[in-house]
Amino acid sequence: MANKFKIIAFDVDGTLVDDTVFVWDSIHDAYGVGKAARRQAMEQYFAGKLDYRGWFFEDIRLLQEAGATREGLMKVISGMKLMDGAQETLAALHATGAHLVIISGTLDLVVKHFGLDGLVHEVFCNRFHFDDAGRLSGGTPTPFDIEAKAEALKVTAKRLGVPLAETAFVGDNFNDVEIAKAAGLSLAFNCKSDALAKVATHVVPGQNLRHVLKYLM
Ligand SMILES: [Mg+2]
Repeated sequence: MANKFKIIAFDVDGTLVDDTVFVWDSIHDAYGVGKAARRQAMEQYFAGKLDYRGWFFEDIRLLQEAGATREGLMKVISGMKLMDGAQETLAALHATGAHLVIISGTLDLVVKHFGLDGLVHEVFCNRFHFDDAGRLSGGTPTPFDIEAKAEALKVTAKRLGVPLAETAFVGDNFNDVEIAKAAGLSLAFNCKSDALAKVATHVVPGQNLRHVLKYLM
């Protein structure tokens, strides 16, 4: 059965993965990184004084200062869980022939831990690097977070020759507003943002991802 949506994009934190709102906050909290230092970089970003790359490396620096390791980070991530119905939902959509994409500010560690890379065709997210001793040594920031999530959808649609009207997006928070506006159909799932609820085609209540299927198939 062909899907009228040729591309379906998903957010990760709070959408495909539960028990976190933003994985960055979860790991900073677990390592006891001071909220004031984190807030400073975030505020500079939203004030346009620091670009995403600068924010990314400042947040990495704070984690390095706190002694972050692959093992420690994985321990935090292991405390999260896959959203109820995530596996079945992605498999059902996969079977319709839709091109499934993750467009997220999450970490590659999260995507790999939950096997999400095996359930979709393409992943856009942040990457962490580690040295031989397993200490956090750096990273590769995604060019496609927050407002730029929409850009990843547009680039993918253009590459595959799919009109934006035939794309769909599922996300949960304020950082999903622009991509929700760009997609042909957008679903605010497990929604924490009035701004997202306002622009989304539908708000899907509850925390069972299977409930998005009726809109996407
Ligand atoms: Mg999210």
